[in-house]
Amino acid sequence: MTQNGTLIDSVYRQFDAASAAIRLPEDLRRHIRECNAVVEFRFPVRVGKRIEMYTGWRAEHSHHRKPTKGGIRYSEHVDADEVRALAALMSFKCALVNVPFGGSKGAVRVNPYKTPVDVLERITRRYTAELFNKRFIGPGINVPAPDMGTGEREMAWMSDTYDAMSQSDLNSFACVTGKPVSQGGIAGRTEATGRGVFYGTREAMSREEDMKKLKLTPGTEGKTVVVQGYGNVGRHAAQIFRKEGGAKVVAIGEWNGFIVNRDGIDLDALEKHRAKGKSILDFKGAKAHTKDPSKVLEVPCDVLIPAALENQITTKNARKLKCKLIAEGANGPTTPDAEAILLKRGILVLPDIYLNAGGVTVSYFEWTKNIGHIRFGRMGKRLEAGREHRIVQAVEKATGKTIDETDRAHFGKGSDEIDIVRSGLEGTMIEAYGEMREALRRSKRIQDLRTAAFAVAIKKIASSYDSLGIFP
Ligand code: NAD
Repeated sequence: MTQNGTLIDSVYRQFDAASAAIRLPEDLRRHIRECNAVVEFRFPVRVGKRIEMYTGWRAEHSHHRKPTKGGIRYSEHVDADEVRALAALMSFKCALVNVPFGGSKGAVRVNPYKTPVDVLERITRRYTAELFNKRFIGPGINVPAPDMGTGEREMAWMSDTYDAMSQSDLNSFACVTGKPVSQGGIAGRTEATGRGVFYGTREAMSREEDMKKLKLTPGTEGKTVVVQGYGNVGRHAAQIFRKEGGAKVVAIGEWNGFIVNRDGIDLDALEKHRAKGKSILDFKGAKAHTKDPSKVLEVPCDVLIPAALENQITTKNARKLKCKLIAEGANGPTTPDAEAILLKRGILVLPDIYLNAGGVTVSYFEWTKNIGHIRFGRMGKRLEAGREHRIVQAVEKATGKTIDETDRAHFGKGSDEIDIVRSGLEGTMIEAYGEMREALRRSKRIQDLRTAAFAVAIKKIASSYDSLGIFP
């Protein structure tokens, strides 16, 4: 139990507020709200000369689309309710960004930072075997991905274990996403959630009338950014905000402290520093604070990106935040009571189920690539390149001028997988923001973007049951 309630309480409150706003019939409300299936199991793993028992979970929230989809979390603090809440968020996230999956989530109670790699491998392989035997993994059943404490390496172990157990199912690569590119992964998956955080925030910040209310000029250029959690999501988001958005990252927080540089942290230098295995707190290019790591949230900025854990912004600190916009990279970082305070203070909250959907969006691309057995761009790249080249020649001939080398570099190369993935992600985030914004504009009963996001998602899930004739 965390302060200001648990994540599952928050998700239910958010869901209930949106269902009431769209006047969802009671039978549908009960049907969509709860998790359909949760499996909890304990399994033995050899650690040196001892046998340790580990607890694992996998929850399937909704089967309105198949397969179900969601990450695997490795954490010492995880429990069944957290997994159920995260699975529910996945259903709404997928529906909102038009990714045709049901929601799922899994976890193992383990500290990945204090567990030797060989033990982590045995845990991951055994966890996968348990899921396989319980029919909780498979390309058409349930497809895991990385979440906190897991990454490409764990996904490669899972994929390999599944492949061995399924007797080389032709589609076995599609049993899990977030794999290394050399093992059936897709270019751009690792950065996808952070990149989606950037695309979504940039889209929100492009609306002049909304930015006026925040007393901000439109766009991300020159804006100050604070990131809590410098892992997969936070690190990529910070880098892309700086490189592509022209923003200044002024503070970065980790579990043991945070660093601040009002002139902007040199992220390239920070990367070199971290590559030597050093903590961000020893980085010379910023001032370190170790007394209370959660105070990073109170550093003045335009955009605050919580990208670590749930329940970080609570009634205890909501009045102390000095940002204009909260870009939720993490799942459930803001409690409902804290959000009410933020909204009263005029702070714009871009909700998790929208803003961190980049990961599952690119996972969807990876899954379709695995099912299709072909790399994106392979069929059309040369054709596209030839066409672009002929257009450049025609323009030069018609105008009598030569297109300069910098502009020419953009033409005549066609699209690689990474170009297609980024463009698909960008389009997805822009389209979903439009749907959410429109729901907010149209209904007086919807007062904030989170309720709008849930409302759009719930309507889509409900309509999929309507088409089955289950609910006349
Ligand atoms: P990660 O394990 O790669 O990174 C999390 C980072 O947060 C780590 O660097 C960790 O040290 C730091 N951290 C832990 N406790 C902290 C604290 N108290 N204060 C500050 N920092 C702390 O995990 P991730 O994949 O980046 O996930 C982060 C969040 O984003 C989670 O809520 C996760 O559910 C969500 N998310 C992740 C993805 C994805 O594709 N990885 C997709 C959607 C949502």
